[in-house]
Amino acid sequence: MSCIFCKIVNKEIASNIVYEDEKVVAFHDINPQAPYHILVVPKKHISTLLEVTEEDKELIGHIYLVINKIAKDIGFDERGYRVVVNCKEEAGQTIFHLHFHVLAGRTMGWPPG
Ligand code: 5GP
Ligand code: ZN
Repeated sequence: MSCIFCKIVNKEIASNIVYEDEKVVAFHDINPQAPYHILVVPKKHISTLLEVTEEDKELIGHIYLVINKIAKDIGFDERGYRVVVNCKEEAGQTIFHLHFHVLAGRTMGWPPG
């Protein structure tokens, strides 16, 4: 499997992990776009949001609860944060393993560029 996020999940590539359980891993983005930029990744390889199915419903809900936990643990829950999923090339997806960007620590513009 050549997927870089599968390699991070399997610890074949090092990353700065902030949270892990049986379903997900969360780690700092290598090229942060905000003071806090964490990626939350399911351990199951799902290439894009479009490949999410009925059987993943609990997993997706779990990911949002993990995001809330990370926000509270690190302490950016008070000021707020943004969650982004880029789906396919035109939206900016470059790694084809589903991931949730969690961005915090600065004022965010809208709409995104
Ligand atoms: P995408 O553009 O697919 O939505 O987001 C991919 C993200 O993965 C980018 O923000 C990029 O900086 C990050 N990334 C790419 N390769 C690595 C890596 O090897 N380690 C970590 N921690 N982040 C990575
Ligand atoms: Zn993968």
